[in-house]
Amino acid sequence: MPVTLGAQEHKINPQLVSSNAVRVTQTLQEAGFKAFVVGGAVRDLLLGVKPKDFDVATNATPEQVKRLFRRAFIIGRRFQIVHVVFGQEIIEVTTFRGASADSAPKDEHGRVLRDNTFGEQHEDAARRDFTINAMYYDPASQVVLDYHNGIADIRSKTLRIIGVPEARYREDPVRLLRVVRFAAKLGFSIDPATREPIQVMAPLINNVPAARVFDEMLKLLLSGHALACLRQLRQEGLHHGLLPLLDVVLEQPLGEKFVTLALSSTDERVREGKGVSPGFLFASLLWHQVLEKWNAYQASGEFPIPALHLAADDVLNTQTEKLALQRRIATDMRDIWAMQPRFERRTGKSPYKLLEHPRMRAGYDFLMLRCASGELDAELGEWWTEFIAADGAERESLLQRKP
Ligand code: ATP
Ligand code: MG
Repeated sequence: MPVTLGAQEHKINPQLVSSNAVRVTQTLQEAGFKAFVVGGAVRDLLLGVKPKDFDVATNATPEQVKRLFRRAFIIGRRFQIVHVVFGQEIIEVTTFRGASADSAPKDEHGRVLRDNTFGEQHEDAARRDFTINAMYYDPASQVVLDYHNGIADIRSKTLRIIGVPEARYREDPVRLLRVVRFAAKLGFSIDPATREPIQVMAPLINNVPAARVFDEMLKLLLSGHALACLRQLRQEGLHHGLLPLLDVVLEQPLGEKFVTLALSSTDERVREGKGVSPGFLFASLLWHQVLEKWNAYQASGEFPIPALHLAADDVLNTQTEKLALQRRIATDMRDIWAMQPRFERRTGKSPYKLLEHPRMRAGYDFLMLRCASGELDAELGEWWTEFIAADGAERESLLQRKP
């Protein structure tokens, strides 16, 4: 039986709850179903933080959910969820899932391949990852249902996996990345039993489909705490062989300053609610690998521009395989890298043409990172900052200026 907490005890501020999430749970309840806000949103509410999105769990089937809302879409084949859409906001509704990981089909390493059976609420709680992510909140009664002592772990700022840690990582190795993300993002400590198997289990990540690893990596990098997450990965011994991306990012002494600057500016943008382009982010993370290969190709006799393209090809080929970098992201990365030598041409029509480039802004921001990290002379960045802001006559005189 779950522990039940009333409003006096959990002190959730109802004003932080999305009115659309309330509408969804209320509609489901009026139709005779159980419905709760669940997961990360409840955790954030208990921490007094405004959740960035709301998930609802219910005993209604996806079909039953869909029928109750005007704009509702069934998503996904493996496990169906329903997106209920209200303008900009999407409430994700999932049917309670069975905990039957024991009987679910698995690969030869023990990874669960399918777990698409419906179940009871207590089973739904048990198949979630961490105690703090397995609580249910009913906005109508303002009651929190806590199946795995999540409240105590919220209060002691402890990240604890539900069940036997080794078994849970084996079922789904992506949880190794999730531990690190939540610990860094929330500033929680990892319970010793949850932490202990992390390092030895790390190689299991290699059996997970690349697209899932990519999704989880992106969540980590866009969490607003990417720098802290990467430090935590290193601390947990996850910087060797987990992902080629991390090997590159965490073990490039020359690129460290660049990556640190790139991630802290990403973190700042995320926290200010500004958009971040994954292409820019990955272009930054991999830049020093590109630089290294670019130099090597030039040393073996290639001209600078073809050498840069060859280096970009090499890096993108290695990373797309393991990371399932989408084509659109890879194209952005290549554009940003390929623009860089053009910033060094400061005569004739060349700078004007660059101003017209559709990715000019990203290319310029990237140039500024290169300057700030000491890779390039700061003077080049300053020149471009002036050139962009200048009017026609000022631009002409900037073109005459000798660097
Ligand atoms: P965030 O605020 O960063 O989105 P979140 O807790 O909402 O955090 P999601 O990845 O959105 O994280 O997942 C929603 C919920 O689904 C989690 O809180 C957890 O209960 C459950 N969950 C997600 N991924 C897993 C997983 N790999 N194994 C078990 N449970 C999971
Ligand atoms: Mg979420």
